[in-house]
Amino acid sequence: MKASKRIDASRYRKFSLPRLIRLTALVLLIIHAFFMIDFFLNDIIEMAVFNVFSVALYTYLTVVTARHPQRLNYFACFAIFEIVLHASMATLFVGWESGFMMFVVCVTPFPFFLPFKNDTTAFYISGLCAAAFVALRVYMNTSHDRAVYVDDISEAGTKAMYLFNSIVAFFMIIIFSTIYKIKKRIDEVDLINKNESLSMLAKIDPLSQLFNRRAMIDFLKTIEKSALAKKESYVIVMGDLDGFKRVNDTYGHSCGDEVITAVSKIMMQSVPTEGYVCRWGGEELLFAIPDCDEEEGERVAESIRAQLAAYRFTADGESFHVTITFGVCQCDGSESYERGLTIADRRLYFGKENGKNRVITSDAEKELQV
Ligand code: GH3
Ligand code: MG
Ligand code: MG
Repeated sequence: MKASKRIDASRYRKFSLPRLIRLTALVLLIIHAFFMIDFFLNDIIEMAVFNVFSVALYTYLTVVTARHPQRLNYFACFAIFEIVLHASMATLFVGWESGFMMFVVCVTPFPFFLPFKNDTTAFYISGLCAAAFVALRVYMNTSHDRAVYVDDISEAGTKAMYLFNSIVAFFMIIIFSTIYKIKKRIDEVDLINKNESLSMLAKIDPLSQLFNRRAMIDFLKTIEKSALAKKESYVIVMGDLDGFKRVNDTYGHSCGDEVITAVSKIMMQSVPTEGYVCRWGGEELLFAIPDCDEEEGERVAESIRAQLAAYRFTADGESFHVTITFGVCQCDGSESYERGLTIADRRLYFGKENGKNRVITSDAEKELQV
């Protein structure tokens, strides 16, 4: 029997949210470790010490937040705060020309990528980043860019710092955007698979796990169309359990349900993979096989009939068996599936009138009519 198609999400699993968080924290850790060494080498001790704390913070966040991806917002806010503070302090110590404030511009759009409950939160955080940038620029203007170590750093040193910071800032923008894109794709794949599961659930009968009547009508329309295009025939086989009311009356409704479940399993296993099986209603079961003739349909129905007849059910310490009667109809592409259903139904009831527990094809119908 046909199964549903799902997008394989396994190739995205390696990009799980905890891993993406760990990767981001690791990138920030490496960048700050580099700054720490650079500031130490240049004797800018305040910034070197600041970066020791930054490295410790990103090490902590890498371990803790990756284990708790639901805390992504806190992690990101810490990181944004650290980046703005780091850039502002570095600017105060080594000057605006060092290009550290580029990092503030770089993180300003980042809050909009975060899953805040309140939509305005991103505006506030980005606004604060922008305010920090403008405030520092105004302060540096008024104090004539008198950074603490500005006289200790050569012009070439400042230019090198600017170049390095611009490369790192662009690198960070690219990393953040890539992570956002991957996260969006993971969400899309999840949504597609959830929709697929939901639409599959809407097609399945909960008791028998077979397709329901509505889904079967859609399949029959598709089979009919394809048969017409390819000039093939297909079969529709309608089945109805014999004397099922008596099973319910004797052993109870839940025992009746077990019988329906067992028959459905036999049918699922017996109908070839290209076929479709459904619970047409109550104790009526129907299967259809594309590119198939009446003989093959009869063979499958006969196999199900024989398996069920040999199957022993037990209830209340008693053993009993249940039988089924089938009506088979072969449809050519030019014949509608509605006509096929009517004929299969007519043959099924012909079988009921002629002893039940049998499979009625066109030949059997003719023989019995004589
Ligand atoms: P026949 O051989 O002529 O088909 O006789 P029958 O007793 O099978 O047919 P009838 O139409 O008289 O009764 C069908 C019974 O199937 C009646 C109904 O309660 C029972 N039935 C329908 N759906 C379910 C179900 O989901 N679970 C159970 N346990 N019984 C069901
Ligand atoms: Mg019945
Ligand atoms: Mg019935």
